[in-house]
Amino acid sequence: MLSIVSTPIGNLGDITLRALETLKKCDAIVCEDTRVTGQLLKLLDLPKKELLSCHGYSDPRKVDNIARRLVGGQHLVLVSDAGTPGISDPGYALVSRARSERIPIEVIPGPAAFLAALSASGLPINRFVYFGFLPLKKGRQTLLRSFKDEERTIVFYESVHRIEKTIDELAEALREQPDRSVVIARELTKVHEEVVTTTVAGLPAIARSITKKGEFVVVIGAR
Ligand code: SAM
Repeated sequence: MLSIVSTPIGNLGDITLRALETLKKCDAIVCEDTRVTGQLLKLLDLPKKELLSCHGYSDPRKVDNIARRLVGGQHLVLVSDAGTPGISDPGYALVSRARSERIPIEVIPGPAAFLAALSASGLPINRFVYFGFLPLKKGRQTLLRSFKDEERTIVFYESVHRIEKTIDELAEALREQPDRSVVIARELTKVHEEVVTTTVAGLPAIARSITKKGEFVVVIGAR
């Protein structure tokens, strides 16, 4: 059996009861970074488990080995470093393989940064489109320009290294829509959580003033 388990995006209190129970009883945990998951088990006071690293750049033979264990009847848990496995994180290849091997799969949902940002945004979120991390080069400007015509709320992830540049590029791409709402969520669920609400016109000032620390989600209102 494969259990797909979401873990906190910052605040340990967001671990679910089902996640705790499953992490306790499984045979081994498939994770992105064994140090991060080892530390999580420690902080949650959970027993040590065998940790099998499997990330986006892993050799496909790793997925084969994990699949063999599942076929052999082991109960494995899939986690990522934070949040929901597969959401801008590894996981897809293993879940897809487990499905094709007809392994029973259960999902134990929990935090995901884009969902937390959407619910905190105060923007309509009955229809939204999630872009993960924006492309760095090819297609980036085309995508940013396409936001002009998007009729759903837009949400994407950004790293601390690029947040200022991305906010500036967004201001430029949407300059004809100065009143359009933008929300930038930083360090959600953590001590320094911050949700900045602005408009396209306010973006250049925010690009300078926002604290350049931690993790970011950008939400843009529909056109
Ligand atoms: N699997 C994760 C999820 O379910 O949200 C996302 C992993 S992705 C590699 C990491 C990115 O998610 C960060 O660069 C940031 O954009 C966003 N993120 C993760 N935790 C966050 C938090 N606490 N506050 C704001 N953004 C966060």
